[in-house]
Amino acid sequence: MGSTERIKNVAKRVAKWHDAGHQIIVVPSAMSGETNRLLGLAKEISDQPDPRELDMLASTGEQASVALLAMALQAIGKQAVSYAGWQVPIKTDSAHTKARIRSIDDVKVRQDLDAGKVVIITGFQGVDDLGNITTLGRGGSDTSAVAVAAALQASECLIYTDVDGVYTTDPRVVSDARRLKTVTFEEMLEMASLGSKVLQIRSVEFAGNYKMPTRVLSSLTDPLIPLEEETVSGTLISFEEDTKMEQATITGIAFNRDETKITVLGVPDRPGIAYQILGAVADANIEVDMIIQNQSVDGKTDFTFTVPRGEYAKAMDVLNEKVKAHIGAASITGDAKVSKVSVVGVGMRSHVGIASQMFRTLSEEGINIQMISTSEIKISVLIDEKYMELAVRALHKAFGLETA
Ligand code: ASP
Ligand code: MG
Repeated sequence: MGSTERIKNVAKRVAKWHDAGHQIIVVPSAMSGETNRLLGLAKEISDQPDPRELDMLASTGEQASVALLAMALQAIGKQAVSYAGWQVPIKTDSAHTKARIRSIDDVKVRQDLDAGKVVIITGFQGVDDLGNITTLGRGGSDTSAVAVAAALQASECLIYTDVDGVYTTDPRVVSDARRLKTVTFEEMLEMASLGSKVLQIRSVEFAGNYKMPTRVLSSLTDPLIPLEEETVSGTLISFEEDTKMEQATITGIAFNRDETKITVLGVPDRPGIAYQILGAVADANIEVDMIIQNQSVDGKTDFTFTVPRGEYAKAMDVLNEKVKAHIGAASITGDAKVSKVSVVGVGMRSHVGIASQMFRTLSEEGINIQMISTSEIKISVLIDEKYMELAVRALHKAFGLETA
């Protein structure tokens, strides 16, 4: 919601659903740029603001949104009531700025819905056991919305956002990327964690755990487009059972530029080595993604793993200072210019040959694969960042993703 004009449009859209006989709960985010503005103010005051006070501050963005939206609905003749998270209450743990929702009380909300009101609840925030306001992390209103939908056993959760759905890959890289009509929760998790950041990942986990059908759709369309049109727009994130028998084997190509590769060379091949290397990295709070250990030769092996770019320098320091001499490694090398490209699809479970098709496509483009990792519904390769876009385009074509 970028302006009061946009808020009025949201009110029209909500009224349209309500007029069609639906009970509606709306979970707005702050007005565009508002959370950044508030956090910017905090930074002007202090380099390390107290997390409790940051939550107190950041949560006000959503509080303004819900009140304005309630007024906008009332102005067009709808009964509406707004609540901050603590008034519902939406209970969370006490991890300020990254709290997790524990429970949502539905009593008050149900009473309002039954009385014919539209209920508007702040996204992004809740309250802990001591009554402190907490927030759920950036993008957290997606998670609030899915959690509220689950708690109230809604029939569907609609997430209106600035994109019109989930695509087979990033349309900025592949111009004929196609919008997916449906995607499963598992695929969405793989795509989200790989860089298609349409929704906060935790909201997708929530949707999966509570089996809440969730549709991602555009907030930029005319608010009065017919409901029949709107209910089939965007992308439905759903369950595997109800999806598409004759769907393509591969659903999308995900990629992540935020990768670096570190290799510990000449490590004695004995029990505990992986733990000594990765334990030290984990103790420094660095997340590791792909991992390989080579076959040992003469009792020595090489150990390679990837970490996010922002953690590369720190990881190298930890290894050089705390690990290298300790485990008797020969040397440590790294490459900060690598990217990960993945093919994702639940169809992989029932089809063979996906990996070989992927590797053939990359070899035809002369792209060298540095590391490979797989899950049941995903195959990822690490390659030189120079070839990332080429790889994504070639794979998108090879798996026929541009056509429905
Ligand atoms: N307003 C919060 C943020 O910008 C939550 C959200 O938009 O989902 O992170
Ligand atoms: Mg958001």
